[in-house]
Amino acid sequence: VRLSSPRLWALALSLGAVAGAIYTLFLRNARAYDSSIHVPWQVLALAFAATEVFVAHVHFRKQSESFSLSEVPLIVGLFFVAPGVVIAAQLTGGAIALALHRKNPPLKLVFNLTQFALGTTVAALIMRAIARPGAALTSREALAAVTAVLASAVIGVLCVVTAISVAEGENKIRAKLPSMLPMGTIVAVTNSSVALIGVALLRTAPLLAVLLLVPAAMLFLAYRAYTMQRKQTESLDMLYRSTRTLNQRIDLDTTVRMVLEQARSMFRAEIAQVTLLPEDGGPGAQRARLGAEDAFEPMRAIELDPTVGVWARVVSEGYAVSLPRPIENDRLRAYFETQGMRDAMVAPLYGTDGVAGTVTVANRLGDISTFDDSDLTLFQTFVNHVSVSIQNARLVHRLQASLSRQQDLNKAKDDFVATISHELRTPLTSIQGFAKTLLRQDIEITPDETRAWLQVIERQGQNLGMLIEDLLLVSRLESQPARVQMTEVLLPELMEQVIEGFMHRPGARRIELRLEAQLASIQTDRAAVGRILSNLLENALKYTADNTSVRVVGRAIAGGVVLSVEDEGDGIPEEERERIFDRFYQVDQSRTRRVGGAGLGLYISRTLAESIGGRLWLESQRKRGATFSLWLPAEPGPASLDAARAQRARDKRAAG
Ligand code: ADP
Repeated sequence: VRLSSPRLWALALSLGAVAGAIYTLFLRNARAYDSSIHVPWQVLALAFAATEVFVAHVHFRKQSESFSLSEVPLIVGLFFVAPGVVIAAQLTGGAIALALHRKNPPLKLVFNLTQFALGTTVAALIMRAIARPGAALTSREALAAVTAVLASAVIGVLCVVTAISVAEGENKIRAKLPSMLPMGTIVAVTNSSVALIGVALLRTAPLLAVLLLVPAAMLFLAYRAYTMQRKQTESLDMLYRSTRTLNQRIDLDTTVRMVLEQARSMFRAEIAQVTLLPEDGGPGAQRARLGAEDAFEPMRAIELDPTVGVWARVVSEGYAVSLPRPIENDRLRAYFETQGMRDAMVAPLYGTDGVAGTVTVANRLGDISTFDDSDLTLFQTFVNHVSVSIQNARLVHRLQASLSRQQDLNKAKDDFVATISHELRTPLTSIQGFAKTLLRQDIEITPDETRAWLQVIERQGQNLGMLIEDLLLVSRLESQPARVQMTEVLLPELMEQVIEGFMHRPGARRIELRLEAQLASIQTDRAAVGRILSNLLENALKYTADNTSVRVVGRAIAGGVVLSVEDEGDGIPEEERERIFDRFYQVDQSRTRRVGGAGLGLYISRTLAESIGGRLWLESQRKRGATFSLWLPAEPGPASLDAARAQRARDKRAAG
């Protein structure tokens, strides 16, 4: 939809020009049709103003209906004052009511007034062409008045439909006229009959005309009751339909898309958006958006800045907010403009425990209206209804994710049996092979060869021992927390010692140690930290090419230290980031088969890190290679140990 104010201005002004032309050509010198009664123009203006203040209005989706009593002063005016005076009274009264009470913006005000002027000039013309004065009210006069009023009502409807067509950039006459015209004519005829009774009374017993106020007021109340009833049925119908279609869906993306489409059409908005807050132990904040021209952006992770955006307020206060156009608060307006939004409504989405996100609709279509209070109430109700569907879809989504994780874990366990047999057999085969050869009497073996082979046997025996130790440790960690022994540990010395342990290994020259001057000693478990660092170094050497370097970095930060092992290998694929810390998990089986490993190192390392109150994670990959960081608290009091254990338990539960 293209909003084109200049075109609407042109439309409004040409309506005025046509009205002016008709008036100058045919009505300029016309006097009152019946001058037997004097109706002051101020009274007429006041009556017109009153009919514009008391308007019953419903607006739904693409439909809108308004009911007023404006035909009553119009008919009285057509009979008893000059056409110029009726128009002047209507413009004055209308302008006051529309500008002051209804707060019409300039364009809408001018459009309404020129459209009134056109309707009334045509009505006056018809009245004059048909009616002939009589003593009492003649049927010819009545016919003239009803025809005149009908003409002005039809002109009004046509003008509005044309304006909508111009604003929305497509021909709406076919779509709107059939629904708007019948109601418009019924109201015009009903109002005319009340007005004609008034005219008859004014001619015979002017004072009794005051009695007319009673049926007029009753009529207005009837209109209002009708519109309220209509609004309620429409809202219920829309809500009913939206929940019914939504309940048939369980997939998150489809559900969200349907919610967005419904929100957009229900509130005649250009943009609709769903934001989900981070879930405990689940995914972070996410957003999906349906924008102009049906551009759909499915759920994706976003960063939520708590200092900007209305969502924070909606989330903390728990009720919907409307930001009509123009948005008053400068900061908010600027923020919404960066999102391409001119006006908006934001409502909280409820989950099982409190607010789980927000739904936003923005950019009311057409430039005539913006979001109002009744839109806001309905929007809040709509969002409450769809909350259930979104929440269900979200739960299903999480269950599916956890199921697939579980399946992966099962597969990892199966793979583990194959890997572990291979890992146990390889060293065993070479130990047995070399031992057998050494024991043979029939071949000559030099002392150098004997020494080299015994070294192989020792190294493979060590590997076997380490693997068995890892397996025992894992099974122990499953059933009970690691035993920790806190002592004062001098970190630089420990790090050097760990690196020393790798010196006999091929490629160990690649290891570089970088220490910050402030890094000194902390209270921690020496064996655990040593083991974690060894595991990380082992991986860094195993999974990278021989000509790349490996760095062990230690730095002090507020409240603790961070020890990192950085390499320049191929790194770890994004989707495997967390899984590599699972038991038995290996990214590439064939590769690990070649370099050795049982998928236990990182699992053990993370468990140990948490049991000493620390954290172990894989840094996001900005540069080449993988960087694993171990954070250790300067003072691992019982509180931080408990917290780490509790976190561990939560993670486990979240992982299913
Ligand atoms: P493994 O005994 O298989 O090395 P780990 O638990 O130590 O078990 O590591 C799990 C998986 O994570 C490895 O199989 C490997 O695929 C991947 N991995 C660990 N460290 C690195 C690294 N520095 N570079 C690339 N991949 C790594």
